[in-house]
Amino acid sequence: MSRTPLFSMMCAGLLACSSGSSTSSPSDHASPAAPAGDGAGGESDDAGTAATSGGSDEAGAPAGDPYKTVFDAVDKASIDKLLNDATGGNTVTVDGASTRLTERWSPAGKARFRAFWKQYFTALGMTVNELTFPIPNLVGETTGHNMEAVLPGASPDSVVIIVHYDSVGIKGKETQNPAVDDDGSGLAIQMEAARIFAGLKGRTNTVRFVAADYEEISDNLDGDVAYVAYLQREAKAKGFKILVASDDDQTGWSCWDEDVKLCGAKPPAANSTFLMISCSGDKKNYAYPELAKGIAEVAAAYSTMKVTAVCDGSGDTDHYPFWQAGIPGYVIEEYGDNPHYDDTGNDTYKTINVQYLFQISQIQIAYQAKLIGLGK
Ligand SMILES: [Zn+2]
Repeated sequence: MSRTPLFSMMCAGLLACSSGSSTSSPSDHASPAAPAGDGAGGESDDAGTAATSGGSDEAGAPAGDPYKTVFDAVDKASIDKLLNDATGGNTVTVDGASTRLTERWSPAGKARFRAFWKQYFTALGMTVNELTFPIPNLVGETTGHNMEAVLPGASPDSVVIIVHYDSVGIKGKETQNPAVDDDGSGLAIQMEAARIFAGLKGRTNTVRFVAADYEEISDNLDGDVAYVAYLQREAKAKGFKILVASDDDQTGWSCWDEDVKLCGAKPPAANSTFLMISCSGDKKNYAYPELAKGIAEVAAAYSTMKVTAVCDGSGDTDHYPFWQAGIPGYVIEEYGDNPHYDDTGNDTYKTINVQYLFQISQIQIAYQAKLIGLGK
């Protein structure tokens, strides 16, 4: 995405306009800091098949509090592995051949990634659809490719978990950008959510996991716009509702680790919060405060982290075309002003705090479980 600086977002915010560090519990900045990340991800060669780490609580209908079950099922090692698999840190086997997914800009690099993504979701038992759309030739193709994996629920009414897989990079060096944070981090959260949800029974709603193309490359959310149009046609033809779009974009970089000045004035405790954007804060007045409230409740119930709710009308990531279509949606992002994304360079694993990404993932995936009505 092309991010609006944190402070302009803060000042545009309807929910958190008064302070550069407002959180859902502004009075409580004493929450314990998350431990620092733990360094390199492990090598593996069995990527692309469904991960199976986790306990026996991943089979059958969850007992007790199903969202706590999901929160606890989120696995740090699994997230780390998925992140490294998706961004070239690990060798992966895709369709029987060993490869590294080192970039997601060229048509060939993106095709390799799609095959990996399809293999992962197929192994989890989902139907995977490749949805094409026309696109002006920017990188040697005139067709974009969105990927959709469908996990049916009792109702066809759908929750969309959307992330973009394409990336850009320093001009002329795009194939050298592994795009680990933007948006490898979102892909890792999405794939971890799929692993957990596919192993649990009792889903009220259908889940559509979407890896969108041309969020970055055309800088115009073309893939997301195409997906929303597709899904609206499907919903109309088949008579289901599109309930909400949940977007994970850039969630693994820590301003506290790199330079606390990048966290802005009055920084909260290290790695103690992340951003939740469910409102535009502009004249368009897209606003879904119930989503901000919902995720804050999950964080308060299970985590030491806080949610910083802000508004952002810049329309720079995958959920925005849902807002334009009148569909509720939100995105989560890391706190602070990340200097490594899009064409800025150094969006590598070295800038990722895996512990921070893991703790955000726990909250996001537990909240997504709530949105899909798990265990009901
Ligand atoms: Zn992005």
